Amino acid sequence: MTRTQLVMANWKQQGSEQTLKQWLSEVNVPELTAISRVLCVPLPYLATLRQQRAALQSPVLAGAQLVSAWTGGAYTGEVSAAMLSEFGVTYTLVGHSERRQWLLETADSRRAQLAALWQQGITPVLCVGETAAQHQQGQTFAVLWQQLAEVLDPQPAPGPLVLAYEPVFAIGSGQPLSAPDAQQVHQQLRQLLQHWYSAADCQQIRILYGGSVNSNNAAEYLRYPDIDGVLVGSGSLKADSFNALCRAIASAVTAKTVSLI
Ligand code: PEP
Repeated sequence: MTRTQLVMANWKQQGSEQTLKQWLSEVNVPELTAISRVLCVPLPYLATLRQQRAALQSPVLAGAQLVSAWTGGAYTGEVSAAMLSEFGVTYTLVGHSERRQWLLETADSRRAQLAALWQQGITPVLCVGETAAQHQQGQTFAVLWQQLAEVLDPQPAPGPLVLAYEPVFAIGSGQPLSAPDAQQVHQQLRQLLQHWYSAADCQQIRILYGGSVNSNNAAEYLRYPDIDGVLVGSGSLKADSFNALCRAIASAVTAKTVSLI
């Protein structure tokens, strides 16, 4: 297995330019350089992120939380994939449940966002996940199938893709899905992907778990074979908690690699 584990921090509409500068210097610790980390900041901070990453020679990659479905033109307030690319963005969230719920993004928009990102060589991180009601009614598989099909049909992705499985009820609730339950869903997701990708390609696609991950529970997820990293909201805001989370992941990843040899 050659998948590299990924830890994504999603600050949502939080933070400030000052906290960003501080955070970046505090997470710049040598023992964590081997962990792939991405920070998704609010858009106005992308310039500072670029500047500070360069100044600190930080290995933390630049991420965005949104992208326009249009590649350019008279769309007030929108930010294109080309603009994100200018600021060094290499990963961008698509379809986060908060944007599905509050910004009413449609499947057509998500599909166009993916295409725009691939055109610029940015890796989309497609967020999928069921609501509490759908979970209780045993609809998880059907919901995930629909959320993949609506953006991947009829053509598979022309570029790299990361999936983030985020059960909606686990986001920001302090009630994470257990690691064994998450593994079961991740395994199903990897099987579902075979509808669009070869079995070998499915083995390369990273599937992150997101939803109330913190420094106490992060390592547990990474012990499972189909969980390739985590997407972290509130647990990423403070540098010391985020460092603790990444340290826990680093030890779990080592254990997983050793057990695979
Ligand atoms: C998220 O925003 O994607 C998320 C998982 O948030 P939290 O970690 O706060 O649940």
